[in-house]
Amino acid sequence: MPYKKIPMLNPIVELDGDEMTRVLWQWVKNDLLLPFVGLKTEYYDLGLANRDKTDDKVTADAAEAIKKWGVGCKCATITPNVQRVAEYNLKRMYPSPNATLRAALDGTIFRAPITAKNIAPYIPGWKKPVTVARHAYADIYKAAEFRVEGAGTAELTVKYADGSTETKTVNEFGGAGVLMGMFNTDKSIYAFARACFAYALSSGQDLWFGAKDTIAKIYDGRFKEIFAEVHAEFAARFRERGIQYYYMLIDDAVAQAVKSEGGFVWALKNYDGDVMSDMVASATGSLALMTSVLVSPDGKYEYEAAHGTVTRHYYKHLKGEPVSTNSVATIFAWSGALRKRGELDNLPALVTFADKLEIAVADTINGGVLTGDLVPLYTGSEPVRRVDARGFIREVAEKVEN
Ligand code: NAP
Ligand code: MG
Repeated sequence: MPYKKIPMLNPIVELDGDEMTRVLWQWVKNDLLLPFVGLKTEYYDLGLANRDKTDDKVTADAAEAIKKWGVGCKCATITPNVQRVAEYNLKRMYPSPNATLRAALDGTIFRAPITAKNIAPYIPGWKKPVTVARHAYADIYKAAEFRVEGAGTAELTVKYADGSTETKTVNEFGGAGVLMGMFNTDKSIYAFARACFAYALSSGQDLWFGAKDTIAKIYDGRFKEIFAEVHAEFAARFRERGIQYYYMLIDDAVAQAVKSEGGFVWALKNYDGDVMSDMVASATGSLALMTSVLVSPDGKYEYEAAHGTVTRHYYKHLKGEPVSTNSVATIFAWSGALRKRGELDNLPALVTFADKLEIAVADTINGGVLTGDLVPLYTGSEPVRRVDARGFIREVAEKVEN
């Protein structure tokens, strides 16, 4: 009997990309989505050639489409550097598409590892994923820095729009040293806090936030205050969902996180998030098991794999050699987008399909059918069968069919 495809209502905004992940993108769609879902997408080709052809307008258009439809799914893309400008004969060095999308959606990035029973995390107590929410705006990433050449007084001055000023002495330098002035804005911190509370609520997980307000009483203190204020907005919904918000000092949060079972959303200031997201990624196993979702304060979602376009594998693939690229994060970008689309459009069958797809991936891995990167992490008792990129996707497709 032919399989009845699951219908969709509104489209997912589809952002195609580059190199090996562009190849995986088609395989995942052909083998895992199109046979089962009446897939509706609004397609934007963010491949570097088309970004160049459209003067990068396609990226801005895709961002607008995500604002309109609420759900996007993005393939990894090349961020051009000098070498790429030559390789692709580009008109100019375009900015990172992810930075363009982040700015357009004013979003926060949540990175969650994909776990499987037989893939051991390096932190054995972690039974559930730890989702890192990094505030990707300002602090030391937009700071003014000085090399102080010799003795002198360093001051910090604010010139207000009304002409008044406020000055504080930072240090009386007796000799050479370094100096930095950094900032953040209430607007960005509120957006970050709201995105974190909304994400914790929609995923049914506790929210942790850690900062250093005992030392940076005004700076980190303002983050703590804003989180407390936004918590009040969400308190009733958190109670209803049976989840909690915890504020901790950042050092305490790190210690608690390592000892925890996982299963929470961890909101981190920009630098802390930069550092801890790499710790969480490596503690969990492989970069290819890390998903990423950009969430705007008004609830627009863009799903993607956290890894890049896997250039080295692509050039092998072009030579006709089989490659062992792991498609799991790409598959989870699609399952995440389909689940969110299903929730927003009230299509339970679509949500169930997303769950099934993720279970089929976990079953495939737990059964010892693995791409090369996962072989050393496998702890199951089944004999390991190493497959190439296409082989893995076909194995998952078979499991979905059954
Ligand atoms: P990458 O594409 O993530 O790959 C780095 C290495 O990590 C690979 O060579 C491979 O190691 C391993 N790896 C990553 N993903 C894998 C997967 N799915 N399966 C198996 N192994 C995987 O990072 P990159 O080489 O630094 O960057 C390549 C391009 O991607 C750049 O042009 C960069 O601009 C772009 N990029 C895009 C995004 C994005 O769109 N979100 C993010 C990062 C980078 P082995 O070679 O040892 O097998
Ligand atoms: Mg980092």
